[in-house]
Amino acid sequence: MTFDVSSQGFTDVIDITQQIREAATRRKVADGVAHVFVEGSTAALSTIEFEPGAVRDLREALERIAPMDSQYHHNEAWGDGNGYAHLRAALMKPSLSIPISAGKLRLGTWQQVILLDFDNRPRRRTVHVQVTATV
Ligand code: ZN
Repeated sequence: MTFDVSSQGFTDVIDITQQIREAATRRKVADGVAHVFVEGSTAALSTIEFEPGAVRDLREALERIAPMDSQYHHNEAWGDGNGYAHLRAALMKPSLSIPISAGKLRLGTWQQVILLDFDNRPRRRTVHVQVTATV
C-alpha cells in the first residue's frame, strides 16, 4: 500500500511510525518483513528516538556533513539549488526493512520511523509499504 505525507522541505523530519504500523499490520502477516520506501531523490527514511533534541542533533549533523550553502556540481548543472538535498538523501537512503514477528512490527520502544525531506521547497511525498510473509 502507499500513503502520502506533506512536508515543508528544508530537512523536515516527520514521524510516520503510525502510518507504517497501520500499513504493515493490515495484511495480518504473523512473521515477515515490511519494506518501506519513499519516492524521490531528495527524501529519505530512517529511525530515531523522535524527541526534539535527537531530531535537532540529526539535522545539525546533516548540516555539517552536507551544508545547504556549500557549492555543489548539481547546482551548477541544474540551478535548482538543492545539491545538498540530493547528497543528504543519497547518504541517508530511501528505504528501510522492519521485521514482523507474532504479528507485530519489531520497532524498539523509542525507535520511531522518520521521513526526512531535504528539498528546498514544500513537497508531497509518496511512501510505499510492502509486506512479505516469511513463513
Ligand atoms: Zn536537484
